[in-house]
Amino acid sequence: MTVGTQLLFREDAYQKSTTASVTAVEGNKVQLDRTLFYPTGGGQPGDRGTLTGANGQVYAVLDTRKGEVPDSVLHLLAEGAEAPAVGTTVTAAIDWDYRHRLMRMHTCMHLLCAVIPGSVTGGQISDGKARLDFDVPGDSLDKDEIAAKLNALIAGGHTVETRWITDEELAAKPELVRTMSVKPPTGAGRIRLLDIVGVDLQPCGGTHIRNTAEIGPVLVTKIENKGRQNRRVNIAFAE
Ligand SMILES: [Zn+2]
Repeated sequence: MTVGTQLLFREDAYQKSTTASVTAVEGNKVQLDRTLFYPTGGGQPGDRGTLTGANGQVYAVLDTRKGEVPDSVLHLLAEGAEAPAVGTTVTAAIDWDYRHRLMRMHTCMHLLCAVIPGSVTGGQISDGKARLDFDVPGDSLDKDEIAAKLNALIAGGHTVETRWITDEELAAKPELVRTMSVKPPTGAGRIRLLDIVGVDLQPCGGTHIRNTAEIGPVLVTKIENKGRQNRRVNIAFAE
């Protein structure tokens, strides 16, 4: 059984803990009525952290995944681990240092889209590094030039905002969708846009930092050839 969860990370990516009620438990999968834990999706890994019961018992969350129904979130404990009881209240806290690194790198991938013209065909964010694949020809990408442009945008201190538009507004502006592999979910009536003001605007349901300066310096570690029209650009934190 999966039930919908109030997704607090969509409204405030900086909230680190919340109280919540346990609504369902199935094996090592715990569901809450609301959560800060981002479930794996859009190339961003799921959060980890802890659920703490009223009696002080701590349940370690190793990963977070989407459930079967829209907006349901499964908090994954270790296989065989004891879970908090349905109906009890827990304090749910994310591993903030880990999440913040993912938020910085995720936001950096939006900047990379602004630096490299061409459709994005895939990507993956992990701890301290990330990659995006672009549908661009031949040797058109220069590692040093991309690094210089990317770091200039980061240092530029651009404001990062989210806002919502309707499905109809998005249909009228197909150019907003940069990724060919990940189509934004339509049909719910509204789409969440990530706006790096004056730099990049595209649909995204992930978690982001508030200002590009928070990313810090990055390196273009390598550009790989993954087929005739596919270049994989790898990024890592410089420090
Ligand atoms: Zn995003």
